[in-house]
Amino acid sequence: MIELETSLVHTLNPLATSNASPLMKNKDLFGASRTPLYNNATFEFEHSDTLANVSKDMGFGFIYSRSGNPTVQSFEERIRGISKAMGVVATTSGMAAITLATLSLCKSGDCFITTDRIFGHTLGFFKQTLKNLGIEAVFVDLQDLKALRAALQNSHAKMLFFETLNNPWLQTYDIKALCNLAHEYNVPVVADSTLTPFGIFDAKKHGVDIEVISSTKIISGGGGGLAGLVLDYGNFNWESFDNLKAEFQKSGKWAFVYKARKEIMLYLGLIANPANAHAHLLGLETLSLRAEKACSNALKLAEFLESQNISTSYPALRSSPYFQLCNEQFNGRGGCILTFSLANKQKAHSFMDALQIIKIATNIYDAKTLIISPSDVLYPQTPLDIQEKLGIRENMLRLSVGIENVNDLIDDIKVALKIADTA
Ligand SMILES: *Cc1c(COP(=O)(O)O)cnc(C)c1O
Repeated sequence: MIELETSLVHTLNPLATSNASPLMKNKDLFGASRTPLYNNATFEFEHSDTLANVSKDMGFGFIYSRSGNPTVQSFEERIRGISKAMGVVATTSGMAAITLATLSLCKSGDCFITTDRIFGHTLGFFKQTLKNLGIEAVFVDLQDLKALRAALQNSHAKMLFFETLNNPWLQTYDIKALCNLAHEYNVPVVADSTLTPFGIFDAKKHGVDIEVISSTKIISGGGGGLAGLVLDYGNFNWESFDNLKAEFQKSGKWAFVYKARKEIMLYLGLIANPANAHAHLLGLETLSLRAEKACSNALKLAEFLESQNISTSYPALRSSPYFQLCNEQFNGRGGCILTFSLANKQKAHSFMDALQIIKIATNIYDAKTLIISPSDVLYPQTPLDIQEKLGIRENMLRLSVGIENVNDLIDDIKVALKIADTA
């Protein structure tokens, strides 16, 4: 059994066999110890028959970088080795990963179950874009298992979608219970685990079928370009899943991956940019070091803010209603984001403007500590009364904690709090 820190650096693909492609064994043609960046559109063939065979999936090779690319595949194989997922598809962004997963499961006339406590752009995608395509999101309070059961009973939902730790509320759920309940109704579970990266949350163990990740966040190494990931753990039996009947006939347990890769990714042009896949492969190698440091910094900052009588949300705080679940599901790690509230909007803005080290920027899980007002940045088009219903307030700040020295961050915050107080 190889531990995470080792598999982050070395691809040790459990499925590699002696006749697998060189990439499956992560061996470069020339022995380069890091997968080179293949930033090309097309691949040439010696013989027309070989291209014909590869096109028919009867032989290994790459044809055109919208259907597959060596650098992107190397990134996917590394993720497969780390996660023990059955299949992995790398996409242009986290939003592309969510698009790929939902359109591989749902078609016009279908519905799916989710909650409104999800990332703002995902919520917009569900409420506007999918709605206009005839796919309806049914919003349920997922803390309420009875409400979920009722929704499952009353619909032919094609998926259950939630975030393992939601952005920016930092709520979690009893994830095993959600998965078990969805499975009772033969509904696959899609979880966005961006805030609980590998080493913190084991999606397979908790019963998640399809995991989606914004690799832009911690995997990239910190702001190293956009990419996303879709992982199929091979748990779900697609045989009786209406929308994948044809794919099941062709490819059995690979039905979801087949549809995702051969149809939705290909036709919507969702494949990851090779340059970003290359950058994220490098980011992966230091993932666990950075996650440990950032989570430890975040806990110290949350404790500091709480000690100043500032209302602070962070799941690894004893005062958090999610403390127990955080211990059970996330190895006690609360992730790299915390939120806190100052007296009013003006003080919140004065505080942000007074910070020297901490930057005003909207990324999360970056190597640098970043701050925003979720009301301004995540819900700019949403009227304040609707924001209020979503639990978003103008005096609330979201701090994404990086890997700096924590004392420097505390000093920065102390000074800014003083300035905001007199503003
Ligand atoms: C950032 C984020 C996304 C979107 O990812 P992009 O790579 O920016 O497209 C999706 N889900 C969550 C939870 C996120 O934080």
